[in-house]
Amino acid sequence: LVVLGIETSCDDTAAAVVRGNGEILSQVVSSQADLLERYGGVAPKMAEEAHLQVIDQKAHKLASSFNLPIISIHHMEAHALVARLIEQELHFPFMALLISGGHNLLILARELGQYIQLGTTIDDAIGEAYDKTAKWLGLDMRRSGGPALEELAQVGDAESIKFSTPMKQHKDCNFSYAGLKTQVRLAIESRNINAEIPISSASCQDRSSELILLHLFRWSLGVASNQYVRTRLDLIVKKNLKLVCPPSSLCTDNGVMVAWTGIEHFCMGRFDPPPLADEAEDFVYDLRPRWPLGEEYAEGRSNAR
Ligand code: ATP
Ligand code: FE
Repeated sequence: LVVLGIETSCDDTAAAVVRGNGEILSQVVSSQADLLERYGGVAPKMAEEAHLQVIDQKAHKLASSFNLPIISIHHMEAHALVARLIEQELHFPFMALLISGGHNLLILARELGQYIQLGTTIDDAIGEAYDKTAKWLGLDMRRSGGPALEELAQVGDAESIKFSTPMKQHKDCNFSYAGLKTQVRLAIESRNINAEIPISSASCQDRSSELILLHLFRWSLGVASNQYVRTRLDLIVKKNLKLVCPPSSLCTDNGVMVAWTGIEHFCMGRFDPPPLADEAEDFVYDLRPRWPLGEEYAEGRSNAR
């Protein structure tokens, strides 16, 4: 079994070819760095046009031309399941923390296709907070803000600016980063920015990861490539849980995670037959800015699917 995975959900156009046993035969990512720099973030219409410039036909036409089955993949499911590609011993059920540009999800993956959302952000995702912080600090926007912030934070003192930890008093597992974002913006506006960049970066990174850690304590259990977050997670789970962190290249958007999730579905017999030529020609993608993965956790409903 050999699967081609195509990823075009946001600003990266990515493709990969992966064998059924998880061997990655090829992977490429074309990022929209110029657009990110020019617009200071993702502009959906431009992003769509940029995808069309680097990928001449998309999945349905390829499947139709080569008479191959096709599988539609949920972007966040792919982010979650790529952990099973790098760790064959990761069996269902498991908990997944998905922290990226548009999402902040803590999910219980019960089995393939069955996900329960334990927590989500009530406003911004952590990646959004990182990207905005990087923008306000005037960091290089040719790549996303998170990695630039992580680099600077290494030489900053996280204790220097006392940002408060968001949602600390809440008992549920939801996240919130809009307040932290405002704290960071006010701090930047009121200080000599150049001297304070590493400090603000370190403090923002420290407070934002604190919230994640609080939630994981409660449940015993893109941004996921952040070494600082990983190290702190590792400290928590060391005692009796196993932490699986895919390599950074598989945490940000990539074709491998899509191909792998396709393999998982294909092996369970979940795929569509090759589209007919006219179906492929007329195919209209169901584009949704928000598309929940699984259902929300409801207290006392132990058998929720
Ligand atoms: P989503 O997956 O939620 O739809 P997306 O696909 O746009 O969002 P990804 O490509 O999955 O986002 O992840 C990009 C996000 O991860 C950006 O917000 C970026 O700043 C952040 N990020 C990437 N690397 C790091 C890092 N090392 N430290 C912190 N944040 C990071
Ligand atoms: Fe993503």
